[in-house]
Amino acid sequence: MPADGCLIDRFASHLPVTPRTPRLTLGEGRTPLVRAPRLEAETGVREVWLKVEGMNPTGSFKDRGMVVTVAKAMEEGSTSVICASTGNTAASAAAYAARAGLSCAVVLPAGHVALGKLTQAIAFGARVIAVRGSFDDAFVVVKELAAAGEATLVNSVNPYRIEGQKTAAFEVCDVLGDAPDALFIPVGNAGNITAYWKGFVEAAAGGMATRRPRMFGFQAAGAAPIVRGAPVADPQTVATAIRIGNPASWKSAVAARDDSGGAIEIVTDDEILDAYRFLAGCEGVFCEPASAASVAGLRQRAKRRALDGVERVVCVLTGNGLKDPDTARSLSPSLSEVAPTAADVRAAIRALP
Ligand SMILES: *Cc1c(COP(=O)(O)O)cnc(C)c1O
Repeated sequence: MPADGCLIDRFASHLPVTPRTPRLTLGEGRTPLVRAPRLEAETGVREVWLKVEGMNPTGSFKDRGMVVTVAKAMEEGSTSVICASTGNTAASAAAYAARAGLSCAVVLPAGHVALGKLTQAIAFGARVIAVRGSFDDAFVVVKELAAAGEATLVNSVNPYRIEGQKTAAFEVCDVLGDAPDALFIPVGNAGNITAYWKGFVEAAAGGMATRRPRMFGFQAAGAAPIVRGAPVADPQTVATAIRIGNPASWKSAVAARDDSGGAIEIVTDDEILDAYRFLAGCEGVFCEPASAASVAGLRQRAKRRALDGVERVVCVLTGNGLKDPDTARSLSPSLSEVAPTAADVRAAIRALP
C-alpha cells in the first residue's frame, strides 16, 4: 500500500477509479489507530484499538466515501449533489462539493442535527433544508429528487460511498499487520458496517490479511430496527448520527453479521453516554455520542463475558466529539466564574469534583 498520496491514489487498485477520475482530496484517511489501555484493563481484552475517524477532514468517516463519490460524480459530468443526512454526510458532501465546484443540497431532520455538523454544512455553502420529519423521511424525498435527475444522490446507497469507506479496513490491516479478531462499530444506515466487511473480505482475498474479523454492530435502543427485525417509525436516541429507523443497507449489514459470525445488538443511551465519558475522561479521545456505541457494545459484552476468543479488538470511533457541543455541555457542570485571584481560583478548583 503506497504510504503517501491522496486516498484515491493510495487505493486506486482497489477502487473503481480510472486515470480520468479527478484526484479530489482534502487529506482524508490515514487516521490514527490508538491503543486503549484503560479499556483493556476494564474489559480484560488483551488489545483494544480505537480507529479515530473523527480525525478526517470534516471530522467523520463519511469523508472516505464522499471523496470517491464526488470525484466519480465529477468524472460523470454531474454538476450537483444531494443527500439526506443526520449531519455528517451533509458536512462531508458540502465540503467535497465546495472543493469540486459542484452545488450541494442537504436535507436534514429538523431539530435533530448536532450543531457542529449543521454549522459545517452552512459554512461550506450547501443549500440546507430541514424537514419536519425523521432522517428516513428526508431520505425518501432525496431519492425522489435524484430519480427525477435533479442531482447525484451521495447517500451510502451510492456504491462509491461503500467503496471509499472500505479503505478504513485496509488501513487497520496495514497497521496491525493482519485483521483483528473483532470489529466493534455503530450502526445507523448500516453503510459503514457493510463497507468495513467488504474491505476485510477483500483484504483477506488479496493477501493483506490472513483472516477476517467477527463484526459486532450496535444500534441505540430507541433506533434498533435490525435488532428488532422491523423498521422503527419514530427512532429516538441521544446519538443523533444513528437515529435511523429504516436503514438503507439493512440486508448487507445482516450479511456482514452472519458471514463473519458476529452480532448486531442494542446499547442504551445511558451505556452510550457512559462510554462517551469514559473515552474522553480515561483515554483522552473525544468522539461524538454515536461513535461511543462501539465501545458501549464492547463493555457490555465484556460484562456479559461474551468475548470468548477475542484478543485483539478494533472499535471504530466514527466522528469527532466537537461535532456535538450541546451534548458535551449538557453532561458537564456549569462553568464557575470567580474573581481573578489565586485564592478564589484555588477554592473554585477544589470545589469541583
Ligand atoms: C454516519 C454515522 C454513523 C452511522 O454509520 P452508517 O453507515 O449510517 O451505519 C455512526 N456514527 C457517525 C458519527 C456517523 O456520522
